[in-house]
Amino acid sequence: MRIRVLGYGGWLSSHWIGYTSLAIDDEVLIDVGECAHRQLMECLGKPYLRHVVITHRHGDHLLGLPTLALWAKAFGDTINVYAIEDVAEAVALLFKAVGQERLLGHLDMHLLEPGKSFEVAGLEVLPLEARHTVPAVSLRIRRGGICVVVSGDTAPNPGLAKVGRGCLLIHETSGNPGQEEAANRHGHSTTVDAVRAAEEMGATALVPLHYYVHQPVVPPAAVRIVIPTKCGVIEPEKFV
Ligand SMILES: [Zn+2]
Repeated sequence: MRIRVLGYGGWLSSHWIGYTSLAIDDEVLIDVGECAHRQLMECLGKPYLRHVVITHRHGDHLLGLPTLALWAKAFGDTINVYAIEDVAEAVALLFKAVGQERLLGHLDMHLLEPGKSFEVAGLEVLPLEARHTVPAVSLRIRRGGICVVVSGDTAPNPGLAKVGRGCLLIHETSGNPGQEEAANRHGHSTTVDAVRAAEEMGATALVPLHYYVHQPVVPPAAVRIVIPTKCGVIEPEKFV
C-alpha cells in the first residue's frame, strides 16, 4: 500500500503545506479540500482521481470537489464519492452554490454507515464515528495483513484502538502539548492525544498531521514517528 501525502495542514495552516489529503495507491483520494486539483497535479500529475472518500463536510476536506468533478466531466468520466449522508447533503448544496448542479451527474454517491465496511479499489475500508463538531468518520483501511487508520478530524476517540491494533496510525494534531482542553472542546486532538492514541492502538508508527500555523511539537513517544512531507510516500509495510 502506498500512501501519498498531498497535504498535511489544517484549515488555518501555512499555505505551502496544503490541506490534509491523502492518495492511497494513487487511486483513492481521502479528503478533497480547496486546491485538491492542484495538489493532485503537483504530486501525481493527475487532474482528478476516480474514487474520493470524504470524512466530513468542513471546507478544508470538501471544497475542492467541484473542480475535480469538472475535470471528470472534461474526460467524460464519473467520480465515485464515498461519504456519510451529512456530507452528501453538503455536496448537493455546494454544487448548487457554485452554479454547477449539472456536475452532480458526474458523481456517483455511495453512502457510508459507521461500522459498516466497504470496498474500493481493492481496499477494505471501515468507517468509524469520529468525535468532531459535525458528523465525521475516521477510517481503517486494510488490504491483506496491512492496515492504516486515518483519524480524520476528531477529539480523542477510544474506538480507534479497538479496530486498529497493529495498524499504522495517521492522526490529526491540531494542537500542541498543553492545549488539550481547547482542542478537544473543538473536536480536535493535540500531539499528546495522537501519541497516546498510537500507544493504545499498538500502532506500528504514527504520522501526525493537520497542523495549524504553529509548528507541531511531538512529545516523547513509545512509538515510531513518521514526519509527513509534501507529495511524500508512506509505505505501511515498512513499519510492520
Ligand atoms: Zn473538521
